[in-house]
Amino acid sequence: MYSYFHKTPLDEDFFERHLAARLPERILDAHGHFDLPEHVASVPPEAIAGDWAMECGLLMSYEDYRAYTAALFPGVAVEPLALPWPIYQADTAANNDYIAGLIGRFGVRGLLTIRPEYPPEEIERRYLAGGFCGFKPYPYMASPIKSAEVGIFDFMTHEQFALADRLGAPVLMHLPRAGKLPDPHNLADVHEILARYPRLKLILAHFGRCYTRELFLEGLAGLEDVLDRLWFDCAAVVNPEVYALAFERIDYRRILFGTDFPIMLWHGKREWDARGYRNLCREEFSFRAHRSPEEEAGYTFVVYEQLRNLLDAIGDRPEVRRAVLYDNAAALYQRPGAAQ
Ligand SMILES: [Zn+2]
Repeated sequence: MYSYFHKTPLDEDFFERHLAARLPERILDAHGHFDLPEHVASVPPEAIAGDWAMECGLLMSYEDYRAYTAALFPGVAVEPLALPWPIYQADTAANNDYIAGLIGRFGVRGLLTIRPEYPPEEIERRYLAGGFCGFKPYPYMASPIKSAEVGIFDFMTHEQFALADRLGAPVLMHLPRAGKLPDPHNLADVHEILARYPRLKLILAHFGRCYTRELFLEGLAGLEDVLDRLWFDCAAVVNPEVYALAFERIDYRRILFGTDFPIMLWHGKREWDARGYRNLCREEFSFRAHRSPEEEAGYTFVVYEQLRNLLDAIGDRPEVRRAVLYDNAAALYQRPGAAQ
């Protein structure tokens, strides 16, 4: 576990006041990255130092996850959808094997990370043997430079999409490009995927990386004709305006909760402008803004802020809470052998 992770009386109070009564008895966290130190030993320190997310959390064993969620969500049964850490320099094969082991030992759901160079036959073999329930491609896999302007088909080939379509394997897509969801190339690629692969289940992670209302509005305007073909996870999205817009425009059965642990384990909040966010944290990360000690002392877990905003947007609809926090993901990411 990360030594910076700690829970304070303020967190307990926040949980009791804002979350406890509104959380369902079980949560399916549809976005968490699991690995062991040996899977990311080759990731250069400068890559970690240059990436706030990796700085916050690059390691999480299954046992760590159990400890984090037990501390954060007392009385709630939390199950993960286990994703490997999709990093160019990571040992993806070993990380996938680790996820397969968690599936076998603990019955968790897991996604297979694919690289563009993986032949479809090998992916199919690993997917079926490991008992995975979907694919996790990632832009990093086409280029080690995080902000590289790669296209979707650079990191997931048409042959791989055709395989996902044939296997009925959901694809959790982290969109590339600085323009995020509204980028015209991304919108065109999403349309092409849905047109060419009619059975494909495509989930856009982080609401298509839309962390602000402006960006999300623009992106949704370009997807109106295919919103009934897409799912969205809300991992690492904190912005209440994004949640309000999501529940206004998207069928709630297509929205999935996710934490993005171990990235989002710190205390803090976010500020937004039209195109992006700024993380405010209490822990000693390089991006710490050093606001006043009084302000920083008042921060709770950022995942609590996320959940409060999500629950506020849902409102007094327990059936929607259950759907978003468990049932939608359970129906989409089916364990092999489960009834269709
Ligand atoms: Zn993630």
